[in-house]
Amino acid sequence: MILKYKYSEGSMDKADGIYFQNMTGHDVEERLKKNDIIIIPVGSTEYHGKGQVYGEDTFLVTRMAEIVARETGCTVSQPVWFGSHPANQLGMPGTIVIPEETFVAYLRAIIAGYWNVGFRKQILINGHGQEYVIPNAIQQFGKICQVPAVLAFVNWPTVIAPFLKDKKRGGKYFDTPFRHADEVEASYSLALFPELNKKEYMEDSKKEPKGFFPEGHVDLGGDIYQYPIPGHAQYGMGGLEVINYPEGVIGKPTLADASKAEDGLEYLIDYLIRLHNDILDRFPPGKLPEPELVTEQDRKTIEELLKGPFNGGRSLYSYRYPI
Ligand SMILES: [Zn+2]
Repeated sequence: MILKYKYSEGSMDKADGIYFQNMTGHDVEERLKKNDIIIIPVGSTEYHGKGQVYGEDTFLVTRMAEIVARETGCTVSQPVWFGSHPANQLGMPGTIVIPEETFVAYLRAIIAGYWNVGFRKQILINGHGQEYVIPNAIQQFGKICQVPAVLAFVNWPTVIAPFLKDKKRGGKYFDTPFRHADEVEASYSLALFPELNKKEYMEDSKKEPKGFFPEGHVDLGGDIYQYPIPGHAQYGMGGLEVINYPEGVIGKPTLADASKAEDGLEYLIDYLIRLHNDILDRFPPGKLPEPELVTEQDRKTIEELLKGPFNGGRSLYSYRYPI
């Protein structure tokens, strides 16, 4: 089958109304009247072996976001390029590790900045396994500011887990289980940004991917198998990647093929569009959950913050800093 949505060819430096940073003040003023949802792609910079790019996890989410924005008219933020990594990824050359505290604070500040400009409905998307940090940023923003907002974090592999599973474990498309930079991830990359992949240089890990314990305890990639212990919820139950998988991949990217990703991608984009539409149906542009239902803060202050400094109110930072 062929994806019913048009693949994105990349909009990061284009004047096509997709990215916030590529828009003018006039553009944003007009956009907010029609659509005040912003998608924030959260990625990472990380070694993915000889045939895949360091920015793979970032390009996966920017290309997905671009398709959704083109279909719906929402806005996309330029991505967060550097991310948090579990301890077993430390030391891999090319993997740039941002400490958790720094990362959470940085994301929280981005959320606050977009709130202050008027994008108060935000969808953060990620597939790099940062589920142990991104929700912290959302929760901290909510607790520090206590202002109306709609913030949702989507870990894309979770949405399409059945499409990512390998055949032996109930899936339909893949021969090997989902892991970092493997058959699955490389297939999604080939589908979404074929021009950045070098299939001829892809190589498989020499060592068979395995932790120290029998299968069924720690989940595999993307936490899609729902094993009791998510990958980020353990330390020392498997080896360091730089020592065990110096190829920078865990599994078999040589088996990757774009066609294996198409059904899952279509389902994922359908879902992201549904989430976008449900948010905008319930809370049309400019509307948010009623303050009396979501905050105990002083109503007059909240009203001023909601108006913002350009419309007779005041900024979020006059009320709380640092955010
Ligand atoms: Zn990756």
